Amino acid sequence: MELVASPPLRLPFLAPRAARAARMPRWQRAEASASGPRTVAVIGGGVAGLACAKRLGELGVSATVFDTGKRGPGGRASSRQWRGQVVDHASQFIATTDPEFRELIASSGAARPLQRFGRLRKDGFQPEDGDRWVGIQGMGGIVSKLAEGVNVRQDIWVPPSNGLSVEDGSWSVAIPGPTRATERFDAAVIAHNGKCAERLTSSTPAREVHALLRTNFAASVTRAQPGCGRFTLNQIYSLLFEVPKGLMPTDFAAAFVENEPILRWLSSNTAKLQQSAECEVWTALSSPSFGKQHKAPQEFLEGTAKEAEVIELMLAAVERAVALPSGSLQAASATKLQLWGAALPITRWASRDATDFAWSSAHRIGIAGDWLSSCPERASTIEAAWLSGVRLAEHIAKQPAEDAGIQLGESGGAFVPVEADFGGGGSAPGAWVDPEKGKGKGKGKGRKGWKG
Ligand SMILES: Cc1cc2nc3c(=O)[nH]c(=O)nc-3n(C[C@H](O)[C@H](O)[C@H](O)COP(=O)(O)OP(=O)(O)OC[C@H]3O[C@@H](n4cnc5c(N)ncnc54)[C@H](O)[C@@H]3O)c2cc1C
Repeated sequence: MELVASPPLRLPFLAPRAARAARMPRWQRAEASASGPRTVAVIGGGVAGLACAKRLGELGVSATVFDTGKRGPGGRASSRQWRGQVVDHASQFIATTDPEFRELIASSGAARPLQRFGRLRKDGFQPEDGDRWVGIQGMGGIVSKLAEGVNVRQDIWVPPSNGLSVEDGSWSVAIPGPTRATERFDAAVIAHNGKCAERLTSSTPAREVHALLRTNFAASVTRAQPGCGRFTLNQIYSLLFEVPKGLMPTDFAAAFVENEPILRWLSSNTAKLQQSAECEVWTALSSPSFGKQHKAPQEFLEGTAKEAEVIELMLAAVERAVALPSGSLQAASATKLQLWGAALPITRWASRDATDFAWSSAHRIGIAGDWLSSCPERASTIEAAWLSGVRLAEHIAKQPAEDAGIQLGESGGAFVPVEADFGGGGSAPGAWVDPEKGKGKGKGKGRKGWKG
């Protein structure tokens, strides 16, 4: 499905070289990329895949995004409608460290600064300043704006088993459905992660790409020998709850939770997104340890005893975090629980050549995502995902004959622990990486020996 008709291009965020290329007449652009792929299949319509496709288009390469999202693309940076309000059920805000990305967000018309943000500590709410942005229509509104003009095929799950294959030197994407159609492309980009990406590439000839996509799930990084790191994701519960106005505190709109081990984040979508409504809708995000301890099949959670147990435990944790009397949130008029089974990368791919993506020239396949980040402060963020997609696109359009970020092993790159909190510069060390059991709290504990 064509997502949005192409509007005139606005490119305030392009690097000078890329901007020049994008201003070229179409014939010149085609010539510039004549030696590289002309068509690219991007599997995954999160921020990384959309950014990659958009920049490829700007550089004269035709890109098609395949995404599972039923309501729209965006992946972990999407929003949903719930109880008549826009709610952010995963990503909460954007922090920027890269000047071009900051300019893109600030000039998008879809974002505004996050207000009344801080940390819930033992002595109460501590406000914090910083360059953080929220979507006027939720995080999904920012993503839609950034993806304007991108060709997205929505509600398509490229099957992990033989969904991607090589035929006569080009990549074939199998489209599920009664027609069992396949579409051919000069190159492919994997812009999603977890078991699905691992399986999708397992029977392709691109062995080094598949090796990078092998995935562990954990709440903390436990292996500590040099060079043996593996891509590792945690699991996080997201609980939406609706309460009458005046029940929850009004002194903050959004906060990292540091006074309650079950929780990591609490925000009022009503206040954060400045929505006028009779009731307030809040988002609580669990700690990774809690997510792991209560792991359940995410598609079949609804109506189960596990769902009821997790909701009860998380509501009680919210009461403790904001010092409400026990049982106050029994007044919640509605709840909605979701498990993000592949939530946040807790290791990032630090490639030897310090690229924010991987590309195999022999097989014409690349990887983009929030976990490919040369910058420790921004790994596992929307910004990291965007930059990864953009930089991979620029490489494909200009240097397709050169490998980048792909080398594994002792002399290659390494998976190293993520320690920042969504681009906050690590002011709360490892907000999303729980300390390894038995090693105590604190930055870096139990992680010695990792190559950086
Ligand atoms: C609970 C939570 C809170 C977060 N909060 C923040 C925050 O406040 N700030 C921040 O900067 N970051 C935050 N993040 C991280 C941020 O959401 C991610 O870094 C970013 O969205 C990753 O984008 P991506 O494109 O790399 O991956 P994804 O968003 O995961 O995109 C991958 C896409 O591929 C699709 N897909 C998967 N398999 C297939 C297939 N076989 N065929 C087709 N499509 C497929 C998926 O459905 C998805 O749409 C949060 C993440 C979570 C889980």
